[in-house]
Order: sequence, then structure tokens, then C-alpha cells
Amino acid sequence: MPYAVTDGCIRCKYMDCVEVCPVDCFYEGEVMLVIHPDECIDCGVCEPECPAEAIVPDTDPRAEKWIQINARYAAIWPNITEKGAVPADADDWKHIPDKENYLLTTNKM
Ligand code: SF4
Ligand code: SF4
Repeated sequence: MPYAVTDGCIRCKYMDCVEVCPVDCFYEGEVMLVIHPDECIDCGVCEPECPAEAIVPDTDPRAEKWIQINARYAAIWPNITEKGAVPADADDWKHIPDKENYLLTTNKM
């Protein structure tokens, strides 16, 4: 029953989640992070730490397609264990809905 990062993370990437994960199961792409579903121990501590409310358990309807996306990219992106530099325009992207479209139009992840 892993947690998943959803499109709320796109272009926000605050990385508060990375700081609290006890098993370091976050992986970093260019514009978002993902959780490795086989490594996540379902502790839930990252969920309330995300300023963008982008992290959901797989029981949440919003997680359905993102579980697959998290699994796919966790297998190829590098592991991240420490918070890095937050994008300067992160707050501007924080409340934009349906940011998945941004990925589809730019082909960036
Ligand atoms: S805290 Fe939220 S917005 Fe920031 S990197 Fe983690 S999932 Fe993405
Ligand atoms: S639920 Fe726990 S183990 Fe899973 S990603 Fe969040 S902090 Fe890490």
C-alpha cells in the first residue's frame, strides 16, 4: 500500500518529503519527484509535510494513474536523500491544477 507523488509536485519540488522519509525511497526527475512503490513502507509521514499536497496513499482516487508513473520513473531516476535547491518559481506553480498536461506538452519529467 505505497504512497505516490501526484502532479501537484510538478514544478514545485519543495523536497520537504525527502527530509522525513525513513527509507529514502524518493527519486528525482527534472521537474518532480516520485516514490518507489516497492520501497515505500507506507508510514505516511511524508504526506502532511508536502506544501503542495502532492503525496497521496494508493487508496486515494487521485493515486490511480500516478502509482504507475511513480513505479516507472523510480526505476530510472536517481535516488534523492537530501533536500536540494527549491525552484525559484515553485510558489507560482503551487496552486495550478492538472499539471500533468505540462509534462505532456513539454515531454519533461
Ligand atoms: S514535498 Fe511535495 S512538492 Fe516537494 S518534492 Fe515532495 S512531493 Fe514534491
Ligand atoms: S509513506 Fe513513508 S516510506 Fe513511503 S515515501 Fe512517504 S515517508 Fe517514505
